Amino acid sequence: MICKKCASPMAVILRKKDHYCENCFILSTNHKFRACIGKNKVLSPNENVLICLSGGVGSAVLLDLVHHGISLENNKKLRIVPHFIHLFDDNVPEVSDAILKKCQKYNFDIYFVHLSDYLNNNTQLPEVNQIVALKEDDKIKFTRLLNCMPSTAANDYLLKVKRHLFIKYAKQLNCSAIFTAETTNTLAINLLCNLAIGRGSQVQNDVGFCDVRDEKVKILRPMKDISKEELDYYVKIKKLVSITRTNVKSNSLQSAISSFVSDLQQNFQSTISTVCKTADKIGDYEEDKASGKCVICKSALFTKDMKLSALEATNISKTVSLGNMNFQQDLENNSELLNILENNSNNSMFPLINKYLCYGCSRNHSEMSKPELLQIG
Ligand SMILES: [Zn+2]
Ligand SMILES: [Zn+2]
Repeated sequence: MICKKCASPMAVILRKKDHYCENCFILSTNHKFRACIGKNKVLSPNENVLICLSGGVGSAVLLDLVHHGISLENNKKLRIVPHFIHLFDDNVPEVSDAILKKCQKYNFDIYFVHLSDYLNNNTQLPEVNQIVALKEDDKIKFTRLLNCMPSTAANDYLLKVKRHLFIKYAKQLNCSAIFTAETTNTLAINLLCNLAIGRGSQVQNDVGFCDVRDEKVKILRPMKDISKEELDYYVKIKKLVSITRTNVKSNSLQSAISSFVSDLQQNFQSTISTVCKTADKIGDYEEDKASGKCVICKSALFTKDMKLSALEATNISKTVSLGNMNFQQDLENNSELLNILENNSNNSMFPLINKYLCYGCSRNHSEMSKPELLQIG
């Protein structure tokens, strides 16, 4: 078997049919990365870019691609000024150490920020290359917040927390763009998760090349055309170190969708690309119709020109039920339910919706056992 580009002995088989030698494969992956940034024309030369590293396979490859790109001295040189950040928690301290070592090998500086910094309004940059201990109070508060949600809501909420922190530190570092390392596989999974949890209108920002919800900082996904299969070969050929860890809580919608997509891809090699092509066709709402932004995920809130949604129908049926005599009688026989309803002064299932939160964030909020932990409004 030989490489389909140069006829050298093949070392890589993609999608069970495309054969490459090591050299041509690495070249083609670098090309995909550069082409993705180039064709979208969102970066101007020498822009400050914040590069987010999780320590997983994707971020190991992203780090190598960026290093390779900026080291070139020809017209393919990646003209950005990279800054690096890693968001950590205390569950796996070895990840931060490994990332620090890796960055030192490439001669890059990196900032470490604890996830619980989300609760902190202080916007001071941490010291570079230092894994700093954080205030115990914040950590405890953050853990309590995540633990009071079911796993599906916690997974979703954590993504919004990370997005917030990336944007916050990008602004601190004067970066107008952020690179994250999602692959085609991750984006296909995220797309289906978004649809399943009621974030359909946010698909373009959540899984497209560019998240434009912030006015000053764009989040870019330059590895969106690279698959997990390609990453694994890349890491193996270049002998990169990655720490495999999953951030996704098990027994959740996200973990179920993830294994569904991965299993399907095994036998139907075009599963993921089909899902992603569909995502590209999903358009965005017109921003000018927006009446505000969700305080958690910063997505546009739409209250004007809306037809009756399933959510409003639920609210109406609740209001109607409360005015119904038979229902009132049933209630009187069920003191527990009566109690809940009487103590809930707002008759909506989602009291903060449209004023502060989008539907997806309202649902997470409503599923929290201690919603007061989320300070909103
Ligand atoms: Zn070749
Ligand atoms: Zn939201």
